[in-house]
Amino acid sequence: MKSLRITVRGVVQGVGFRPFVYRLAHEHKLAGWVRNTSGSVEIEVEGEEPFIGRFVEEIRKSPPPMAKIEEITSSSILPAGYAGFKIIESRPEPGEYQLVSPDIATCDACRQEVFSPEDRRHRYPFTNCTNCGPRFTIIEDIPYDRPLTTMKQFTMCPACRREYDDPLDRRFHAQPNACPVCGPSLSLVDADGAPAGDGEVVRSAASLLREGNILAIKGLGGFLLACDATDSEAVETLRERKHRPSKPLAVMLASIQEVKRHCLVSAVEEKLLLSPQSPIVLLKWRNEESSICAEVAPNLKYLGVMLPYTPLHHLLMSEVGCPLVMTSGNLSEEPIAKDNDEAFRRLGKVADWFLLHNRDIYAKYDDSVCIVEEDVPRVVRRARGYAPYPVALPFESRRILACGAEEKNTFCLARNRHAFVSQHIGDMENEETLEHFEKTIDLYKRLFRTEPEVVAYDLHPEYLPTKYALDLRTKSSGLRFVPVQHHHAHIASCMAENGVQQAAIGVAFDGTGYGGDGTIWGGEFLVADLKGFRRVGRLEHVPMPGGAAAIKKPYRMALGYIHALLGPDFALHGLPILGPLDPGELVVVGRQMERRVNSPLTSSAGRLFDAVSALAGVRGEVDYEAQAAIELEMLADENEKASAAYPFSVAEEDGCRVVKLGDLIAAVIDDVRRGEPASAISAKFHRTMARMIVDMCRTISGDTGIKVVALSGGVFQNRLLFRLAVDGLHEEGFEVLTHRLVPCNDGGISLGQAAIANFEASAT
Ligand SMILES: [Zn+2]
Ligand SMILES: [Zn+2]
Ligand SMILES: [Zn+2]
Repeated sequence: MKSLRITVRGVVQGVGFRPFVYRLAHEHKLAGWVRNTSGSVEIEVEGEEPFIGRFVEEIRKSPPPMAKIEEITSSSILPAGYAGFKIIESRPEPGEYQLVSPDIATCDACRQEVFSPEDRRHRYPFTNCTNCGPRFTIIEDIPYDRPLTTMKQFTMCPACRREYDDPLDRRFHAQPNACPVCGPSLSLVDADGAPAGDGEVVRSAASLLREGNILAIKGLGGFLLACDATDSEAVETLRERKHRPSKPLAVMLASIQEVKRHCLVSAVEEKLLLSPQSPIVLLKWRNEESSICAEVAPNLKYLGVMLPYTPLHHLLMSEVGCPLVMTSGNLSEEPIAKDNDEAFRRLGKVADWFLLHNRDIYAKYDDSVCIVEEDVPRVVRRARGYAPYPVALPFESRRILACGAEEKNTFCLARNRHAFVSQHIGDMENEETLEHFEKTIDLYKRLFRTEPEVVAYDLHPEYLPTKYALDLRTKSSGLRFVPVQHHHAHIASCMAENGVQQAAIGVAFDGTGYGGDGTIWGGEFLVADLKGFRRVGRLEHVPMPGGAAAIKKPYRMALGYIHALLGPDFALHGLPILGPLDPGELVVVGRQMERRVNSPLTSSAGRLFDAVSALAGVRGEVDYEAQAAIELEMLADENEKASAAYPFSVAEEDGCRVVKLGDLIAAVIDDVRRGEPASAISAKFHRTMARMIVDMCRTISGDTGIKVVALSGGVFQNRLLFRLAVDGLHEEGFEVLTHRLVPCNDGGISLGQAAIANFEASAT
C-alpha cells in the first residue's frame, strides 16, 4: 500500500481534468480525492504500487485534449485509509493564479452529436464539452465558474444539469454547457434588424450566401464577414464596402479533402489545420485548379485557409456547399466588432444580413494566422487557440507590463516564469483600438492576478502604446518605467521564446523602428542579450522622401536610393515605374531630398525591398503594408538555380559595419534596362539579401566568437528570404533562432520588451 500527494500545474481547470483523474483513479482501483486550488489541481491517491505508478504515468502521457501540463510534482505521504475516490470542494489560495484555456475548435464527439438526427443536440450550433468550445472569450474573472462567464444568463435545463454534475460525463463542469432547450440561439436579420423569415436560420443563411450576399456572422471572438469565395462580384463588393482594395482575405473550407482541392498541403500543415487551435494557415494555392476567385488574394501564391471551428461553421459549411471568404468584421484597420449593436453600427453598410446569437462575447479574439516553414508551425498573428496561454520564460520575472509596438499590437504581462502575450490587438491608430488595448490589459491583470511594478515601452514618442505608458507615468508613483529600442526588443523576443539568454548576433529586418539617433532603423545587425545590445552593423542610410508618403509609394523610395547612392543627376530613362511619374512630383521629391526636408534617413531593409519592387516594375504604390515586397517575393522564380547575386560591399563607419548598396541598386537598374524579367530580378535580389545576412554574420562572428544568430522583424515573414537565410546560416555552422510561438513581426515586440525590462529594472 502506497500513498501520494500530487500537484499538477498548467492549463488544468475548465478542461475536464478532475473527471479525467476521477475516471483514471476508478480504473486503477485507487482511493483518495482530487480538487482544484487557485493555481493547480491537487490529488491524493492510495493503493497498490504498480497501479499508482501507472496512474501518474497516464496523467502525464494522455491528459484531456485541452489540458496543458507544465509541471507534475508528487511526494509520498502516510495512507489515510480513504474508502473510495471523490472530487472534493475547491480550495482558493490568495495571490495564486491559474492559466486560462484559449477557445478550442469543436471536438469530434460534439461534431458527431450535431450531425446525428437522434441526438438531443442535433443541429445545435452551440454544442460544446470540456474538450472543446469557448473559454477565454466568455470569462469575466476567475475562478472559472459559470456565474463569472457570459453564460450566466442561461440557466441549465435538467438534462444539461445532469451532465454538468456527473463526473463520468464529458460535460462535467463544462461551464458553457448548453442545449436547444436552455442555451443560446441564432437569429438572422437584415441591416435594419428585420428578421429574414421562417426558414431554419442556418439553411436560410446558406442560401443568402449562395445568392451572392455578404453576411456578418457572430462567432467566438467577434464578427466575421462572409461571402461566396468563388463569386468574384461578391468578393469585389465586400472589398469595396470594407475599404480593403487588395489585402488578402481568408477562406473557410468544409473539410481537409476540400482544402487539398485548392491548395498544396504538407503533413505538418494538415495537422495544424486539424489541430484544436484550428488557425488560418497560409498554404500554397493551386491557382490553376482552384475555383476560388483571384480577387480573394490578388497577385499572391499563398491562400489563408481555415477549417470550421464551431458547430455553427460546421452546419453552415455543410449547407452552403462552396468555399466562403471569412474575414474580420471590421472596417479597414479598426478592431473586430463583437457585440450585436456594435455590429449593426459599424458593419451596417458592409453586410447585407446579420447572423446573430445571444451569447455575449467578453473578449475580442481574431482568428490566428500561421505558416509552416522548416516543417515547424509559426504564428504570424496570435489570437484564437493560442492566447492567453503564456510563453514560458527562461528566468523568474518581475511583474511587468510591456506595452508593445504600434502596428499589430500585442502587450505582454509577465510574472514568475510566465509571459502572457495578449491576443492580437491590432494597429493602434484609432480610439477603438486604444480602448480595446486598455480593456484587454485590465482583463489580463484581473485573470492572472497581477499588478505590474515595471512598465516597458517603445522609444517612439508617437506610438499610442508609448503615450499610454507615459500617461501612466504621470498618474502613478512607485512604478518603474523602461524604454526599449524597437529592434533590441525584436531580437530579445526571439531569444526569450527560444529560452536563450547568452549573447547572440541579432538580425532585425523590418520596415520601421525608432532608432533614437534621429534615423529610422530597420536593417540592423546587433550583438545582443536580454540586458543590452550593441549595433555592430546596418544597411546604408537613404532618405525617405516625404516620410510616411515614401512607405505608401515605393517609387519614392526607389528615387531615394538613386538620389543618395547614384547621385542626383543619375538619368532615370528606361525605368518602367518612373516613366509615368508626374514630373511635378519628381521635382518635389528631388527638392525634398536636396534640402533634406521631410526626408528622414533610414537603414530599413523593408524599404530596400520596396525600392527594388518599384524599380523592377512590380509595384510603385501600395494599399496594404508590405504589398510591394510581398508581390516581389511572389514573382521570384524559385526554380532558377543560378547562383547569381547582386554586388554589395561593406565599409566601417564609427565602429559599425555598413552594407553599401549603390552597386546593388545600379545592377538592378542595369537588369531592368536590359529587359530582365521581374521574376529573375526578384530571385537574384532575394539571394543577395540572404548572402548579405550570412556575410555580415560571418564577419561579426569573427569579431565576437558568437555562433548563435537570432532572426526577427517583419521582413522574415518573407518565406523565400527566411529559407535562404536559415539555410545559408546553417551551412556556415550557425545555430539559428527563429520565431514559432510569437510573430516575427511587431506582434512579437511586447515579449522582448518584457524580457529586457526585467533585467534593466533588476540591474538598477
Ligand atoms: Zn466537444
Ligand atoms: Zn439544456
Ligand atoms: Zn518592427
